[in-house]
Amino acid sequence: MPKFVYDFTEGNKDLKDLLGGKGANLAEMTNIGLPVPPGFTITTDACRYYLTHGRTPEGLDNEVAAHLEDLEQAMGRKLGDPGDPLLVSVRSGAKFSMPGMMETVLNIGLSDESVLGLAKQSGNERFAWDAYRRLIQMFGKTVLGIDGEHFEDALDGAKQAKGVASDTQLTAEDLKALVSAFKEIVAEHAKRDFPQDPRDQMDLAIKAVFESWNADRAILYRRQERIPADLGTAVNVVAMVFGNLGDDSGTGVAFTRDPGTGAQGVYGDYLQNAQGEDVVAGIRNTVPLQDLERLDKASYDQLMQIMRTLENHYKDLCDIEFTIERGKLWMLQTRVGKRTAAAAFRIAIQLVDQGLIDMDEAVNRVSGDELARLMFPRFDVSGDVTRIAKAISASPGAAVGKVVFDSAAAVAWADRGERVILVRRETNPDDLPGMIAAQGVLTSRGGKTSHAAVVARGMGKTCVCGADELTVDTRGKKFTAPGGVVVSEGDVISIDGTSGVVYLGEVPVVASNVVQYFEGTLAPDNDELVAAVHRIMTRADEARRLGVHANADNGPDCARARRFGATGVGLVRTEHMFLGERRQLVERLILAGTDEQRQAALDALEPLQRGDFEEILEAMDGYPVTIRLIDPPLHEFLPDLTDLSVKVALAGDDATEHDRQLLEAVRRLHEQNPMLGLRGVRLVLLIPGLLDMQVRAIAAAAAELTKAGRDPRPEIMIPLTATVQEMEISRERAEKVLQAVAAETGVHDEIPIGTMIEVPRAALTAGEIARSAEFFSFGTNDLTQMTWGFSRDDVEGAFFSPYIDMGIFGVSPFETIDADGVGRLVRIATEEGRATRPGLHIGVCGEHGGDPASVWFFNEVGLDYVSCSPFRVPIARLEAGRAAIVSAGSDTR
Ligand code: PEP
Ligand code: MG
Repeated sequence: MPKFVYDFTEGNKDLKDLLGGKGANLAEMTNIGLPVPPGFTITTDACRYYLTHGRTPEGLDNEVAAHLEDLEQAMGRKLGDPGDPLLVSVRSGAKFSMPGMMETVLNIGLSDESVLGLAKQSGNERFAWDAYRRLIQMFGKTVLGIDGEHFEDALDGAKQAKGVASDTQLTAEDLKALVSAFKEIVAEHAKRDFPQDPRDQMDLAIKAVFESWNADRAILYRRQERIPADLGTAVNVVAMVFGNLGDDSGTGVAFTRDPGTGAQGVYGDYLQNAQGEDVVAGIRNTVPLQDLERLDKASYDQLMQIMRTLENHYKDLCDIEFTIERGKLWMLQTRVGKRTAAAAFRIAIQLVDQGLIDMDEAVNRVSGDELARLMFPRFDVSGDVTRIAKAISASPGAAVGKVVFDSAAAVAWADRGERVILVRRETNPDDLPGMIAAQGVLTSRGGKTSHAAVVARGMGKTCVCGADELTVDTRGKKFTAPGGVVVSEGDVISIDGTSGVVYLGEVPVVASNVVQYFEGTLAPDNDELVAAVHRIMTRADEARRLGVHANADNGPDCARARRFGATGVGLVRTEHMFLGERRQLVERLILAGTDEQRQAALDALEPLQRGDFEEILEAMDGYPVTIRLIDPPLHEFLPDLTDLSVKVALAGDDATEHDRQLLEAVRRLHEQNPMLGLRGVRLVLLIPGLLDMQVRAIAAAAAELTKAGRDPRPEIMIPLTATVQEMEISRERAEKVLQAVAAETGVHDEIPIGTMIEVPRAALTAGEIARSAEFFSFGTNDLTQMTWGFSRDDVEGAFFSPYIDMGIFGVSPFETIDADGVGRLVRIATEEGRATRPGLHIGVCGEHGGDPASVWFFNEVGLDYVSCSPFRVPIARLEAGRAAIVSAGSDTR
């Protein structure tokens, strides 16, 4: 029979799949000798069983009973013993941290009887009754599903009756009365009494934690963070320790380094005489952790020592939760902490310099997504800006938007296309939808460890918190800044999550330092972050096997791509050169009634094309440039059918001859499904002269540069090929043109001719096609749409989000390659193409070329390069390096 329960002494940090992050790390801390209250973990297997079958697995009850007995023995007390009760907490803890999204119940084991025992043993009657009312409140809400407002209202009522502001001012007698009121709330709303049997309490709490895996906000959070829906949560049952026994007790959270910048130091918040989630909830004002040194020097020193031990042990930034019970320090949680993108790069390099990790590990500690965040623009405050507050820089970025004051408004406004900033006094897990919808989050309370800060940082969302200079009036939908500035719903503000400054109105943005570094305008040693990026990129480039090319269609874009580290252009979309004023020339080509007219139109286009190619080849001198012949259907260059019909109809007899001809052509070329019509190689083969013109322009541009002593390396790429015959005919024609240009110019440039693989049939017959194609480039945009049978232009808005909700995809297959389906075609084509033509050069130029997860896939399949937009080039370089390092590591293991 499988084992469902692990004592803390039995687990370790590598068992996160089974024990969840919290359980695995509690076990790890226990085993390295840190002061962790005894406890045990119920596995995620048990949770998954429960969620599938609606009941706990057989044997779980007995295992829990046995571990509870051990726990009771270790503590020398029995759960809920009327004379001297052992109390436990029942805490959720999944593999990936989901801050505040699932449930926890504290103080299990208290009852009408044992509360008296607790009062006696602790010598603190008020404490005992406070613990009991918290239990009923949490249990009522979490386990029995009663609306938390009922308890809040009763608590507020008690405070009002007493004329006090804080619950700490309520006496034992007040709390006793509150317990009775809470029990009545339970009886009324749950139609049952609050359970007095401690084991009953525990079992119900365990099931409630299992069920909280599927709470709405947990589901939403997982979707946002791309956490798989089927992992389930573990449950930790831990002996209670109390931070609310008086001023010699308290609870806090801390980071071993600043999660915003990576700087080493003491970062955290402490709350005296408090229990559980009071700190993270940002409800009462905390003090900086440094103050603990003054309040309780011994505990402070011990905590600092433990934080050093943890950093050296995990070799990373850790965050922790701790409680001090009457001067005794207890560790309640640790994990490798979430951090901002900038801190991730800085910390990785700091750890290398401290000798804790090597450069390969440093490369693995950061990600392309984080690098992308460092490339976002920042505010340019050199002009006239109105600063209205400065607060805590909780999660970096530059966000501009209209102010809204609640989550629902944020969602509604964002749905109609507005950019919004969510402004709250503090956030709680129910604000998650609004946080996701907003550009940024601003709160007037709470520190770096408040809910808003932790969640925003996890999502990479800009956040400024603890702006206590601002008076936020959520009911009145406005906030007031110092000097009487009133900002109402709909007014625009700008928030800088890097400096913590809030501005009125829209502040302009400029390129980030990291982008300036990639552009070559900022030296790497100018700033710590840029230096860290430089060192990590250097190592990634050394390690990677994949080349990184760019998709670019003009000189400046190519030049930028080259500065960003591209060593080639993987896709020039030549149709992009037929837009703007040149559209008329294409129109003339389409309307041509005679061969002469058609040739005249092509002759007019050719020098323009040649000029484009020269510019591109020059910018990429010495590197391959894969130029794709025209792809889209011709009607894309003509006016819209409806517009033109209306125009001609309205003009009646006055319609120009040109418009009539145009309308006739538009009707003739109209396609029901242009994606699958006359486009790509079909167009190239059927419109006489088009291929010749483009190939001649490429060859002539190259010859010109070669003559000038440059090193142009164009490649000709045929789009949308489905069969080798298409390839053979286009190749034959292209070769003829190349020979003619060579004869005219006397320059014999090697110009390979290859094809896109973007039709399933091409992938399946790649062995044949490779006889005629000298290289392949996967067009995974078309390959995805044709493999799935859905149009890339129509479906993302139409049904992707319900499909993601239904779990049909984890992520859009247009974003991350569908490895099992589309990826299988990529594999087949690669293997069979290379079987025909050993060493066949193969790349990918669909959007997936710049997507981190897809880059790993293409590395594994053995492609030669990925090609993506210039701004994604550094991201692809980094991910290609990471993929190579990890696969080298797994080869030797
Ligand atoms: C593709 O289909 O993946 C591709 C790169 O071509 P386009 O996006 O231009 O159709
Ligand atoms: Mg395509």
